[in-house]
Amino acid sequence: MFTKPRHHLLSFILCGTLLLHPVQLAYAADDNSVTTQEDTSTTQEDTATTQPDEAPFWENRQLEITLLSKRSLSLSWSTATNAISYQVYRKDCGSTPIATVTEPCYTDHTISFGHTYQYSVVPVGANNLLGDAISATTHPRNIVNVTRQAYSYKEMESDGKALSELYPDRCEITSIGSTVKGRKLYDIAIGNPNATNSLLVVCTLHAREYACSVLAMRQLEYYLQNYNRTLGGIKPSTTLSNLQIHYLVMANPDGVTISQGKHPRWKANARGVDLNRNYPYLFHVSGHPGSEGFTGYKAASEPETKAIMKKIALLKKTQHLRAVVNYHAMGQIIFGDYHGPNAAIKKETKDLYWMARNLTGYKDSGSYGGVGRGCLREYLLYKEKIPNITIEIGRTWCPVVHREYNQIFNKNKLVVLKAASFYKNKSKR
Ligand SMILES: [Zn+2]
Repeated sequence: MFTKPRHHLLSFILCGTLLLHPVQLAYAADDNSVTTQEDTSTTQEDTATTQPDEAPFWENRQLEITLLSKRSLSLSWSTATNAISYQVYRKDCGSTPIATVTEPCYTDHTISFGHTYQYSVVPVGANNLLGDAISATTHPRNIVNVTRQAYSYKEMESDGKALSELYPDRCEITSIGSTVKGRKLYDIAIGNPNATNSLLVVCTLHAREYACSVLAMRQLEYYLQNYNRTLGGIKPSTTLSNLQIHYLVMANPDGVTISQGKHPRWKANARGVDLNRNYPYLFHVSGHPGSEGFTGYKAASEPETKAIMKKIALLKKTQHLRAVVNYHAMGQIIFGDYHGPNAAIKKETKDLYWMARNLTGYKDSGSYGGVGRGCLREYLLYKEKIPNITIEIGRTWCPVVHREYNQIFNKNKLVVLKAASFYKNKSKR
């Protein structure tokens, strides 16, 4: 027969998991014992003291790192046999452990986002016997990680806030108004907030064209990360020292949410109004509420339209709005024609148009001749008198598929920065 174990299994509550620790497990094995339990115990005590301590060792050498926020990450690992505690080292902190813990996990709250850190964990056994170290290294990570097609309003909002926290001297996020459903319309601005010049980028007026919001967010992070480097011959910090770029990264978030849900081809806002037919220039009522083609019952009837018009007026007044880039997502073409009398608007629009065509390789918009009614582009050119180009980034189908995102970014990554650089030394109209 077996008597009861001399030492109970040591158990620890580890990161919320009950783990059984096999340290110091010893059974009394006196099959012939007829003594009382107390007597048996005394005899076994003497034999146990002669057993040497064993150094801790790993059966599974995996150390996992999970980024929790911009300032913290968690480490977790499997328990080591014979370990009583663990020393955690971070290479840049030298040879002293940054922590000693009894649980197989640790949260480091002292990281700087984007830096690379190397961690090691050493198990400690009885009498301070040490086991081998296991190590792992963090990898720099972008804030804007678009791993699937549907980049949502919530992701854009959270990434925008994270960018402004990470680069507070050069990036700010503000709300310029609300949608029909109460979502905020965000302006993410980069550059000197006290600049006297500005550029405006409007993305995703059409819901199913949310690939434009992906592009805008990636452009923003690209410029912010490389602020003091040179991109295509342009140093963002110099170009943006007196010009701020305002990105309305998702001009129709209600529609985007519909398009990313049950109606992928949805183009309008939540009330079924095409926001690029709702501007007060050559407006006339047409169509019926629905996915596309309805102008609204009157010009600027929609809160999204009103908010953008208000922003344009404010930038004209306070930051000399120099030009606007509209991003849409169908056809890989660029609109840059102007049929009005203002030579400066014509020249600047043409310069922007050729710059964008040369960078992207997209074609002219010739096949879409004529002047759009209620469109933002015509409203800007002819009513607000602001140079403007409209770039259609996708091929022929919306929503643009995820595998096109990288190619779109590569073709367009310099477009807005280059547009900004046009105005660095250009005198005002
Ligand atoms: Zn569009």
